[in-house]
Parts: sequence; C-alpha cells; structure tokens
Amino acid sequence: MSSVRVAVRVRPLNKREKRLSSKVIIHMRGNTTSIHKPSAVRGEKLKDRGKMFSYDYCFDSVDADSPTFSSQEKIFKDLGSDVLKAAFDGYNYCVFAYGQTGSGKSYTMMGNKVDKGLIPRICEGLFLEISNRSGSDSMSFHMEVSYLEIYNERVQDLLKKRLPYSEGGALKVREHPTDGPYVENLSKHVVLSQSNVESLITLGNATRTIASTGMNDFSSRSHTIFTIIFTQGWFDGELPHERHSKIQLVDLAGSERADGTQAVGTRLKESANINKSLITLNSVISALADLAVSGQSAKKKQIFIPYRNSVLTWLLKDSLGGNTRTTIIATISPADVNYEETLTTLRFARRAKNIINTPTVNEDGSTKVVRELKAEVTRLRSLLAEAAQVFDVHWATSVKQKEKLQYNQEKVKTLAKQWITKWRGAQSILEEESVALRKEGSRVILDCRLPHLIGLSEDCLTTGILLYYLKEGKTWIQNEASCCQETVLSGPELPREHCLLENCAGIVTLFPQDGALCSVNGSAVTHPCQLTQGAIIQLGGGPILRFNHPAKASQLKEKQQSGLLSSSSQALTDLSKSAENLSEVKLQNSGPVLKETLSLEQFSSRAEMHFRVKEASGMSRSRRGTRVINQGQGSCLGARRGRLGVEPVLQVVRQRKFHQGMAASNRHVSWALVMDVA
Ligand code: ADP
Ligand code: MG
Repeated sequence: MSSVRVAVRVRPLNKREKRLSSKVIIHMRGNTTSIHKPSAVRGEKLKDRGKMFSYDYCFDSVDADSPTFSSQEKIFKDLGSDVLKAAFDGYNYCVFAYGQTGSGKSYTMMGNKVDKGLIPRICEGLFLEISNRSGSDSMSFHMEVSYLEIYNERVQDLLKKRLPYSEGGALKVREHPTDGPYVENLSKHVVLSQSNVESLITLGNATRTIASTGMNDFSSRSHTIFTIIFTQGWFDGELPHERHSKIQLVDLAGSERADGTQAVGTRLKESANINKSLITLNSVISALADLAVSGQSAKKKQIFIPYRNSVLTWLLKDSLGGNTRTTIIATISPADVNYEETLTTLRFARRAKNIINTPTVNEDGSTKVVRELKAEVTRLRSLLAEAAQVFDVHWATSVKQKEKLQYNQEKVKTLAKQWITKWRGAQSILEEESVALRKEGSRVILDCRLPHLIGLSEDCLTTGILLYYLKEGKTWIQNEASCCQETVLSGPELPREHCLLENCAGIVTLFPQDGALCSVNGSAVTHPCQLTQGAIIQLGGGPILRFNHPAKASQLKEKQQSGLLSSSSQALTDLSKSAENLSEVKLQNSGPVLKETLSLEQFSSRAEMHFRVKEASGMSRSRRGTRVINQGQGSCLGARRGRLGVEPVLQVVRQRKFHQGMAASNRHVSWALVMDVA
C-alpha cells in the first residue's frame, strides 16, 4: 500500500502578471502552502482571508535569489530519485503535473534545453545508474520509450509519422485482460543512450499540438504521456531474475475553465474536451479518495470509479488507483489574478493526497516459475532425506517423490536456459550501438545505422533474416573453415578468404581475393570496387547479398523527394542496374536454363503445373522475392490464379522485359524456364 505523493510548485510571476502589477499571494513554509485572498472584505474573519494546505513537498520557485528557491535540480532530487529507486526495484511509477495553463506543468516535466525538466533528468538518471550497476555485478538492462498525445479525446503517436486526426490518424485504446488499457499500435523505441532519448523527445515535442490561447501564447492543448519500459535481468546464484517497471510521465493540458481563456470555435471544442478529461480526472480522484477514506467499510463496494469516461483516465487507470506508485505535482501561479484557479488546484492536490495505491514488484513470469520450481526441488529433497531416515516409509511414495524431483530439476535447467537465450541473445544484439529494434504495430523494424549486407537466401526453407553489418575498417568474408572468423558465409566454391570489405569513412569498397569469384550487379569484379546502395553481390556460386548503406539511402531519398535526383542520375542508374542484374545473377546460378518465348495461351496450358516464380526484377523492387504464382502474381497472371498447383516441376524466372513486353504487345512474354535441379 502506498499513498499518492503530492507536491506543489509555485512559479515566478510572468510578464503578464508583472504588467498587471499582481501581488504574490502564495507563501510556502516547510510542507505547507498558504494562499491569501486578494480582496479580503473588511471585517472578514482572519481564517477566511487565507487558507493553508499541507502536502508532501512544497517547492517555491518564485524568486531565484531566495534561499528557499527550488530549482529543477532540487525537484529532480526530491521527486525523481524516488522514481529511479522504484524503477530498479521493479515498481511501476507515474508522475503527473496538474494545474492551470501557464502554471509551469511542461516546464516542470520537460523543461527547456538550458534547464531540463523531470522527463529528461529521469532518463539521464536511469542511464547513469545503469552504467554504475553494469560494472559492479552481472546485470543487464533494457529500456524502451513511447510518447503519445491525447488531443480532443483522440490518441496520437508523437514518435511516428502520422496522418492528420481528420484522416483517421488516431490510435485505438484497447484493454488487455491482465495488463489493462493500452494504446494499440503505439510505436516503442529501444533507447541505448541519453542522446537516443533526447532525439526522440525533440521529435515528439515538435509534433505536439500547440496553439495559442489568451492565457499562454504557447500553451499545450493536449495531454501527453511519455512512457519508459525499463527491464532488468540478472542471476542470483543460478537463478535468473527479470523485473519490469513502467514509468509514465504525464504532462496535462491546462485545468482552467473554458471561459477563462476567451475560447471560441475550435479552441472552445478543445477546451470542452480538455475539461471533459480533467473533470473526469477530478471525479476519479475524488472517488478514489473516498474509497481510501471509507477503508474496509461496506460503502467501499458501492463507490464507482468513472475511469472510462475519458481517454486520459482510462489510460491512467493503473497509475491512479492500482499497481503504481504515483506522484502528483500541482503547479500554481503566485499571482493574485489567478486566485480562483490556484485555489482549485490546491484543493485538487489536497484531495489526491488521500488516494492509496497497491504497487507490487513486476516480475517476469518465467523467472518466477523457475524460482518456485527451485523451491519445490529443495522441499522434495528434504522430504526424501527425511524419508531415508524413517524405516517404514511407503516405497511407492518415495519413488514418486524422486521422479518428481528429477522432473523439476530438469525443468529448472531448461527454463533457466531458455531465459538466458532470450535475454542475452536480444540484449547482445541491442548492445551493438549500430542496431536497434522498433515495434510498429504488427511490424518489427530492424534499424542498422552502419552499412550492411542482407543475405538473400536461395533456400526457400530458410526463414531467418541475415544481416552482416560493416563496421569502420576491414571485414573479411571467409568460409567456415577459416580460423579467424569475422564474417562467415557458407557456400560452394567459397575460398578460405574470399574477399575483403573495407568501410572507410562511410565509403565501402570490395576487394576480391586472388582466385575468388565475386560479382557486383551481375558483372564479375577482379579489382577493388566501390559499393553503392542496393548493389547485389554474389560470392562464388553461393551466397547472394544485397548491400545497404542507410546514410546514403536517406540522402538519395531526400534528393528524390526534393526532385534533385533525375532519372539519369548516377545513383539511380546504379539502383536500377542492381535490380536488373539480380535476375542475371540468379540465372547464372540456377542450373540448366531453358529460355523460350511463350504466348499467353501456351503459358496458360503449362500453368496447369505447379510453378514457383522467382520474380527477379519485377516492376517494383519490393515485389522481388520468391512467390507462388497463385498467391498474387502481376496483373496478367492474376487471371490464372487458382488453376495452378499440381507437381513441382519447373521454376520460372521472370525477366525484366516481362512488363515492357506486356505493355507493347500484350500477347507475348519472354520467359526463362529453369528446370528444378532436384
Ligand atoms: P503549462 O505547461 O502549465 O501551460 P508552461 O510550463 O508552458 O505552462 O509555463 C509557462 C511559462 O512559464 C513558460 O514560458 C515557462 O518557461 C515559464 N515557467 C513555468 N514555470 C517556471 C519556473 N518554475 N521557473 C521559470 N519559468 C517558468
Ligand atoms: Mg504545458
């Protein structure tokens, strides 16, 4: 059980307030905040002129020269360090900033470049602690972030290119049976360093919907949730452990009423939706506070928590009343002109203090099973040891226990091994600075920033994707027998040292070794050859590889988009050449070739047989690959879908001329029929 921690922060007077010669009506002493009514009526009782509230923390940021001034650093030390501790202990954590527009929520949560707020500082703190702990014991860590915005009750991914809301760009909120509400298809990004995090924050903040209102020129009209999924794995003796922590850092839109911001039209609608979620947030907080106050009484069962009434409260369900430690930062203005709003915020914060959450350590299911089995093994062992001392123990019972013990021991071993493979395998790849995994809906995207080779396997039963990255310097391509293996490729006719690839300041050159057969884009190379984006390389009679240069590819893409890259450009010529020549590479490699020209009628009759089409150089590069005709062929073959599929006899390699030929005559197609070398 853990009560929600509540902090209040008061910011300096802003320009507008100074212009209006506003008085400071907020005073803080220790953990109490007092607010004074600006226009106290004569004769009014003293107690009605001012109100006092106590909280867990009160941060006075009005005057930088004051000895009690609370800087961003102080706020991180007091509030952020608890977040870090919880993350390493495996608890979920949620920090959210609540307050009127312009009261300092974004400043506290995100800050600016000069004076960073809690979000970047918490990430920095996590990386710092990771580097401290990684050195001392054999712990491994994994961090993923996502960043979303709730605008007008719709959810958007701030870290992914998006369609406008009006074109259905919003994401759906769903509910997982055990994990609760979540945003479907929200992108998650693996981060390996603070600079990774900062570039994602910059990207997200640039996308955030901001608009001008009467109160704050750049007020944020949306709620944002920055989520860090922090995972750690380690061994305690031979027992594996894995813990997760979800840290949600929330920056809410302003809590003021619509009329306070002179809102009309779209702004009025925004305000209505902001108010809707904040009103629901207020109701949820009140209901949870009542629930905590009512304790175990019968009344407890009757309190309804209206989480579902707004997207914000639905997504924060666990953070507000469940398995999370929560800190609320109420941000306020010190000025008399904002008396009403400030009082509302202070009351909200006071109510929230009553909420009690029930955070638990989030452990990985499989490591928990291993530990439970291990405990069972110890128990069975001691039972057997006791049984050995007692003379009249039932023989069958003892055998059964021995069998169970053996079974459990084996299971512990297998599960621990599986966990190590899962954890270390993924971890070591991700630790390579050059490779990053991204999840986008049902796609997993592997981003490799270094130039690399992708294996295009001839074997249709090979399902894994092979990626060989080329670090700065030399990479040898050798066969498996070679002693100092750097990059190993197996294949017929691959000599011990086949070729050398040198990456020199982003320029990659292939150096064929004496007697080794190398071809680039279908032409044999005997001298050093600089590789260009998309080049198809064949080594000996075996592996076919595609060369990717991500940096060059994005430059080319940019040029292409800005129209600077003409069709006659060298780079594009190379690209099309590589696509064109893949067919030749395959033809050279595919055993006996029989070329003939078929009319569509002839083809149609032959198509009664089962064909596997290697679409070597189709119209679009994305179509390249192996596919079966009746699983979606080009337009003309589509007509014959469903008539294929008898015996595997022929392989058909489609040539580049196919589409051109079809366009010209619409009757004849040039085909290369390659007998299957069974
Ligand atoms: P909100 O997110 O609550 O609408 P902001 O965080 O954008 O408000 O703050 C409004 C303005 O006040 C910004 O220009 C911000 O830099 C400034 N500000 C807010 N809090 C502080 C603070 N504690 N110290 C200095 N400037 C602040
Ligand atoms: Mg803001």
